[in-house]
Amino acid sequence: MFSPKLVDQEVLSQLHKQIETKQWATTYLFTGKELVRKRALAIAFAKALNCERAGSGASCSCTSCKKIDAGTHPDIKWYGTDEEANSIKIAEVRDFKNWLNLKSFEAKVKVFIFDQAERLTSEAQNALLKSIEEPPPGNVIIFLVPNLKSLFDTISSRSVEIKVPPFETKAIKSILVQEGIEEKEAEFLARASQGELSAARKAHEAQWFRDKNLWIDALEKDPVQFLEQFHGATRGEISKVIGFLVEWFRDLLVYQAGQDEESLIHMDRASLIESIVARHDFDSVMEAFDALNQFKRSLEDYANQKLVLTETEVLLERFFKL
Ligand SMILES: [Zn+2]
Repeated sequence: MFSPKLVDQEVLSQLHKQIETKQWATTYLFTGKELVRKRALAIAFAKALNCERAGSGASCSCTSCKKIDAGTHPDIKWYGTDEEANSIKIAEVRDFKNWLNLKSFEAKVKVFIFDQAERLTSEAQNALLKSIEEPPPGNVIIFLVPNLKSLFDTISSRSVEIKVPPFETKAIKSILVQEGIEEKEAEFLARASQGELSAARKAHEAQWFRDKNLWIDALEKDPVQFLEQFHGATRGEISKVIGFLVEWFRDLLVYQAGQDEESLIHMDRASLIESIVARHDFDSVMEAFDALNQFKRSLEDYANQKLVLTETEVLLERFFKL
């Protein structure tokens, strides 16, 4: 599950340096959008702190590294592992405090990881504060959060932030291909997810690659009929359609500006994009793109979704009749 290739090597080497110079902090915030990367980095850091053969890297097979990889090391503790739970409550913090003050079983450094720590309740954060102010030596506490504002200032200000960058498109694509996803689909998912592996995987599970191509075909055949199927759709569904149209017209615009296939999200539909762009001038694509963006914003501001759908119909009819 936690493949070493998920770890950002630059950030990991920054942490390795802290270990080499014995200057690591006690409390960290690992910030960034990509949860799997933050988890993988936390594991790599826990391994490095406890490795019996210092410097042997990700594939080390010492007892400590093996146990941490297998998730069976008694001194590496995870909190907030119930992903379905909306909050991490004070009971988990109490458990953490008990372990924090106990001697380790075998680790050089005990490591405590709070997964999606933005879910810590106010009560739980307040209870944590004292432990963070005066932690006993031999412990490292890591909070995996989206950003610095995800926790109270009183916690953030006592922690060292490690920014975990998103994946590059190429890296996501290669991970998806390794997971058995077909090349073309992997390319699209990597581009559409903007560096977020979990979003790409979700889109794959939802068969978004197949569905978006059905949408593109229907749109190309008859835009008004395409939109008619969404009469009576929920607000969420209509937001998805408008979001898709914004992305599609973004591609038309980008291609018209530079004729560069590489910068497309829907690279698998490059030849269709080329033929649509050939039939329209820059200004009309720009105008449609702007209007769609405006519709997207008004939906976010709770505009009536039926009205937005009607306006989109008028817009597409005008655009494709040009
Ligand atoms: Zn090791």
